Amino acid sequence: MIGTQLIDEYARAISDEKQAAVIDGSSKGTEHRYHVLHKDYQDPDALRKLAASIKDHTLHHLGDYLAKAEQALVARGAKVHFAATGEDARQTILSILQSHGVTRLTKSKSMAAEEIHLNPFLIENGVECLESDLGEFIIQLDNDEPSHIVKPIIHKNRREIARTFLREGIAADYNDDPETITRRARVHLRAKYMEAQAGITGANFVCADTGRLTLVTNEGNSRFGMAPVPVHIALVGIEKIIPREQDLAVFLNLLGRSATGQQLTVYTEFIHGPRSANQPDGPEHMHVVFMDNGRTDVLASNCKEILRCIRCGACQNVCPVYRQASGHAYRSTYGGPVGAVLSPLLFGDRFPELADLPKASSLCGACNEVCPVDIPIPDLLLRLRDKAHHAHIHSPAAIPMSPFGTLATSPSLWRTAMTMSKAMNHLPIQVAPIKPLQDWLGQRTLPESHGGDFRKWYKSRRKT
Ligand code: SF4
Repeated sequence: MIGTQLIDEYARAISDEKQAAVIDGSSKGTEHRYHVLHKDYQDPDALRKLAASIKDHTLHHLGDYLAKAEQALVARGAKVHFAATGEDARQTILSILQSHGVTRLTKSKSMAAEEIHLNPFLIENGVECLESDLGEFIIQLDNDEPSHIVKPIIHKNRREIARTFLREGIAADYNDDPETITRRARVHLRAKYMEAQAGITGANFVCADTGRLTLVTNEGNSRFGMAPVPVHIALVGIEKIIPREQDLAVFLNLLGRSATGQQLTVYTEFIHGPRSANQPDGPEHMHVVFMDNGRTDVLASNCKEILRCIRCGACQNVCPVYRQASGHAYRSTYGGPVGAVLSPLLFGDRFPELADLPKASSLCGACNEVCPVDIPIPDLLLRLRDKAHHAHIHSPAAIPMSPFGTLATSPSLWRTAMTMSKAMNHLPIQVAPIKPLQDWLGQRTLPESHGGDFRKWYKSRRKT
């Protein structure tokens, strides 16, 4: 089937200003990644193949490594919880907060928390929950959704942010100087850290051998969020496990470079349990919630390679479809190529319409080339397209390909069509026989037809 998809509608509706912001942010990300990776490594491919093999090994023994991590964390005084679904994770976190009497907390950026809409859930249940990552904070003020894994406000420019700060009373006057914006956010957030009673974070990696959680941020906000509070809760997808601390050398080097083109992300935190008796600060209580939420089903599927993902956003930056449509077009937490694979797998049961996402790709392969864990995204997209086809899930305005198949496999029909196609060059799109075909043609510039000139030329060559 070919057809127009919801993502086409988003791409058409996006404002010029928003699209310029997305293109600018994503192309800069791609350039920086390329330079820093090739400057520092003679063979970056070897590094990402190593990362892929470590991840594959871990996923193959995930149950064992999770048990090992749990044991190590408990030995260090943390409490470990397992949540089979997103709802289980939300309820677990709420009951932990209630048991500690928490009504105010700060949260650092966590895709797992985004995935289960933790913020609105906690607020609905009477817990004041403030995003401390600058981008997520602005998203929260605007009641918006993040549109990029690493740069959640890639779709906004500084003028919009300055207007938000003025509207929300974060700033007394309009000023769109980036440094001033950041300073104003800092002043506002610092006070909130001190008022909070708990901090929620995600984790980029959990080392099974020691139970150590590794968190990276560019703003140091997770560090601030944890330092003054008595309770720390980490919500972690079960695929974030890696076997040993020494494996961090591979992943941290790849993550910073792939995500933001930095040799390392600015702040790297290693959390090894709650505060011990001889430590002056840090949370006295640490809870780690390992969340499945569909991941074991993905592990059992023919797309399990997507669980290697370390959420760097490099595939989003390089994707021509993402650049045109922006992250919101993917209608779920994960946008871009990673989202086109992950979202239908994780959320497809509840939102069957996400099955059209794997079609939002030209299959150019750029996403696979930049992926630090060598995920064969185009192959996975094809497997998901096949799955959607067999489940008879089609785009809203899909056009069956079988007429084209008949045409392309009959030499006489093809010749006739080629002869007629020259006349089609000058016909308006509206003459296309069906509306979906009109829509499809309306979004594409087809090459000019030469009416089968190639065949004539080829025939004449064979005679000579
Ligand atoms: S799929 Fe690969 S490139 Fe995309 S976010 Fe995940 S790790 Fe990064």
